[in-house]
Amino acid sequence: MKGTSVEKAEKAEKVVKETYAIGQRIDKFCEICAEDRGHVVALVTKKGQISRVSCPKCGTRSTFKSGVPARAGRASAKASAPYDRTRTYRAGQSLMHPAFGLGEVTAVIEPLKIDVLFSDRVRRLIHSRVQT
Ligand SMILES: [Zn+2]
Repeated sequence: MKGTSVEKAEKAEKVVKETYAIGQRIDKFCEICAEDRGHVVALVTKKGQISRVSCPKCGTRSTFKSGVPARAGRASAKASAPYDRTRTYRAGQSLMHPAFGLGEVTAVIEPLKIDVLFSDRVRRLIHSRVQT
């Protein structure tokens, strides 16, 4: 934030400008998956507006139209098994994390690391940890 930003009052309606960062979650309709689902912000403009998003399910990158109301943190009706670090996950599986809530595995990074898309952003978790 630098100084005070004077917004031009061209329109009477309030425009709430949120800023985003790469890796955050945004809900969008995926034409490939044909469903409204969580996407990962892949590219943002200098002003923090979303430029491109990618679908963690099919991997499609698409443009993001600003002005479409984003419903962050929409709860899924699907019941998910609690996150278990000893379990081995695959991309596309969903889990319930005790702190972050419902998440979907977007990618297996390393044999012991997975990227999980939560209601706000992607977090890296461990999995396949062998109990000793
Ligand atoms: Zn998709």
